[in-house]
Amino acid sequence: MSFFGSGNSGNIDKKKYESLTLSIRQTVLERSHHRCQKCSVKFRGSNGPFFEHINGSLKDNRPSNLRSLCDKCFEHVKKKESRKGFLGGMRNNLGQMFGN
Ligand SMILES: [Zn+2]
Repeated sequence: MSFFGSGNSGNIDKKKYESLTLSIRQTVLERSHHRCQKCSVKFRGSNGPFFEHINGSLKDNRPSNLRSLCDKCFEHVKKKESRKGFLGGMRNNLGQMFGN
């Protein structure tokens, strides 16, 4: 939905970062050296990584908006995000249906 023609790279950017892709995860993980960005524990197996959306928008998956967290630190975020996550999850499902 652009009022400024199809050459709006902002829209493309938004689409590009609508879902948390593997390459975005890898970017964030490499940046954090595969450690939790809160308690610095190294990720291995079941303790992570999990990804926090810093600005609270689950549709904004730019690496600058993401933090990698271990399961313990993500517990707190999960509570915060789950309130929005209900809608976010629905939108994610829609995205999967129409996105590709
Ligand atoms: Zn942690």
